[in-house]
Amino acid sequence: MADNCIFCKIANGEIPSRTVYEDDDFRAILDLGPATKGHTLILPKVHADNLYELPDKIGERLIPVAKGVAGLLKQKLTCAGLNLVQNNGEAAGQTVNHFHLHIIPRYENDGQKILWNPTKPADEELDAVLSAIMGK
Ligand code: AMP
Ligand code: ZN
Repeated sequence: MADNCIFCKIANGEIPSRTVYEDDDFRAILDLGPATKGHTLILPKVHADNLYELPDKIGERLIPVAKGVAGLLKQKLTCAGLNLVQNNGEAAGQTVNHFHLHIIPRYENDGQKILWNPTKPADEELDAVLSAIMGK
């Protein structure tokens, strides 16, 4: 656990939360500022600031746990869709520096916008990006 990390305290049960799922590695809680009804956060119990620091053994379990929580929300709240969102760094909208995965149920006309504006780069721009990532 990291000192003064609120999500460490919540994940490990020191601060009460509205828990919808818990196991040895994770706690899933209702977000206090939900985008939609049932907006849930999956918190690892071990502290990692972000995705870069997440231990692989926790990462390996994350999608199966997310799948279980997603199925629970779909069944119990009959949402029409669902977004997974995971922010890393202030520029990406991360406000709490303890890794968390958002599970956001979606409903017809729920008024939320969680999609992006597509851009139209030229082929050369895409090639330059590919070189930057893959080039030696
Ligand atoms: P992010 O912007 O990805 O860092 O998301 C942080 C999320 O945590 C936001 O959706 C907040 O509403 C939520 N949040 C912050 N503090 C708490 C808390 N004590 N309990 C539940 N959710 C929280
Ligand atoms: Zn933490």
